[in-house]
Amino acid sequence: MPIQITGTAVLHRRAAPVTEITPRIIQLVDDMVETMHAAPGVGLAAPQVGVGLQVFVWSYDDAEVLHEGHILNPKLTTFGGLRARLERDPAEEGCLSIPGARAPLARAPRVRLEGMDLGGNHLQIDATGWLARIFQHEYDHLQGVLYRDRLRRARRSEVDEIITSHGWGRGIAQWLPGVDGEESDFTEGGVRA
Ligand code: ZN
Repeated sequence: MPIQITGTAVLHRRAAPVTEITPRIIQLVDDMVETMHAAPGVGLAAPQVGVGLQVFVWSYDDAEVLHEGHILNPKLTTFGGLRARLERDPAEEGCLSIPGARAPLARAPRVRLEGMDLGGNHLQIDATGWLARIFQHEYDHLQGVLYRDRLRRARRSEVDEIITSHGWGRGIAQWLPGVDGEESDFTEGGVRA
């Protein structure tokens, strides 16, 4: 599926809850997983593929365990947020909807994710570290928030420079993983949207 780039309206508004698990929703999750791997990325939210529904997928290998899954209508509880905000050297984060940009962003070190899977089962996952970061990033997407919106002013200006250098941020733009290349191919001057 084409990945929507910042400026596209669906990325900047709250996603609607899934009210019924239909074959269309099952197909959406399947297509999102394929798109995430093609990008490649460690997570993908439905608004990023132009669908304003509360769905996200993830696939992250922490070198010991492969964390993979999907969730519908998630709720997220963060723990230890204050300590994270005081973090001196936060990890860098990027987003498939702002290809080519990266910036350090403090996140809560621990979260609890709750929601539903495609089988209608209740899910509860406690996560730390990078998985906790991924969950916060994807959950934000469902609220219409990009990591760029959470950056401090200086870092946000750097990301905005990349966005404007590509002519993004003003309306509809998208890129297609596997056709337009990989996320890592995006560099300044190399527009692939
Ligand atoms: Zn993102």
